[in-house]
Amino acid sequence: MAKTASLSAIRGMNDTLPVDTGYWQVLEQQLRQVLRNYGYQEIRFPIVEKTALFKRAIGEVTDIVEKEMYTFEDRNGDSLTLRPEGTACCVRAGIQNGLFNQAQKLWYMGPMFRHERPQKGRYRQFNQIGVEVYGLSAADIDAEILLMSARLWKNLGLSGLTLQINSLGSSEARANYRQILSDYYREHFDALDEDSQRRLESNPLRILDSKNPDMIALNQNAPILLDHLDDDSKAHFDKLTELLDNAGLVYEINPRLVRGLDYYNRTVFEWVTDQLGAQGTVCAGGRYDSLVEQIGGKATPAIGFACGMERLLALLQAQSSIDPIDAHPQVYLISMGDVAAKAALALAEQLRDALPELAIMTHMGGGSFKSQFKKADKSGARFALVLGEDEVAKQQVTLKFLRSDDPQQTLEQVDLVASLKGLLG
Ligand code: ATP
Ligand code: MG
Repeated sequence: MAKTASLSAIRGMNDTLPVDTGYWQVLEQQLRQVLRNYGYQEIRFPIVEKTALFKRAIGEVTDIVEKEMYTFEDRNGDSLTLRPEGTACCVRAGIQNGLFNQAQKLWYMGPMFRHERPQKGRYRQFNQIGVEVYGLSAADIDAEILLMSARLWKNLGLSGLTLQINSLGSSEARANYRQILSDYYREHFDALDEDSQRRLESNPLRILDSKNPDMIALNQNAPILLDHLDDDSKAHFDKLTELLDNAGLVYEINPRLVRGLDYYNRTVFEWVTDQLGAQGTVCAGGRYDSLVEQIGGKATPAIGFACGMERLLALLQAQSSIDPIDAHPQVYLISMGDVAAKAALALAEQLRDALPELAIMTHMGGGSFKSQFKKADKSGARFALVLGEDEVAKQQVTLKFLRSDDPQQTLEQVDLVASLKGLLG
């Protein structure tokens, strides 16, 4: 480790080792299943896009664009950026491929990159699962994706997550409110922290989003957007709460929830927990009805959310609510001598042909029976198959039980597939 320090991974970008990949696989499988349950389809897009896409979509005065993007020039001198989020990419892909001629219910999963200060639950390369819906403007889809997110937690066995919702209204209502809000903050200019003083001119709504504890009291007394909504947005929000109430989904209205990205309007929401320390938001999203047009497509209503998968996984492990996928072999194949080793390699292939689900590990590199059994035991396999010269000559194989005291059996190789089927169930 120390020797290769200069070649170690980049801070905030972590390896996922075999002890953890079993959990990731279960998490991914469960998430995919729920998305299938609702008829959503997967979309994949590149990890690198033109920098201008993110600047235009996310907004110049946001944490992401101001200070978190991995931006570089490629060999042609074009400015490229490692994707910090998926929504902009999804919109770009949808426009370019003509997907928005009809309603679309999409999801994606994969790594995102943000140059933040690494800490628990906050990394420079992290994974999101995101859902994006296009072409549907009524509140029923807002309700559906919230119900779907609730089902994700339910199926993963997670508890202790709270849904917070708010409405940002139309862009006109927001412009109006922005004025009211900046008047309020201007009156309290000296109480603003440095970041907020700067944001007062560029984006006063983001002051509400401040994580600085010194700003809490000031933000609590700030005028709230829900009191200044346009009529359509008010009706949309009322419909959403009615649908959620009717479906029995519990939520809190958080009037100070504004989200860190510029593109949202109307419904915004977050799923939060107090079980992950400071990084308590596991899922966040909202409606972004003007983004498609802003990126150059035809006007298309849209809504989506993204979940931080590392945070979900931390919660799953803290609550022990899933077992990792068992990656141990079921069977360990031992052989003695060159002839048997050669036969073993071929036998394992025959077994894999006949039993596609079988996890069989063939011992490599020879050694005594004793040392091979040690490895078999350590592998976690339930059964060992032993091929010695004798077995090869007689077309047999010895079966040993590694996790019980059952006596070993001698099996004919022709019967082996049937026997393994019986043993493995
Ligand atoms: P935060 O306020 O925690 O910085 P955000 O508003 O920047 O979050 P979004 O852009 O909405 O986050 O991303 C959606 C989700 O992705 C977050 O709720 C979180 O679970 C996860 N996420 C965001 N940034 C990171 C990160 N650097 N490391 C791990 N997960 C992250
Ligand atoms: Mg952030």
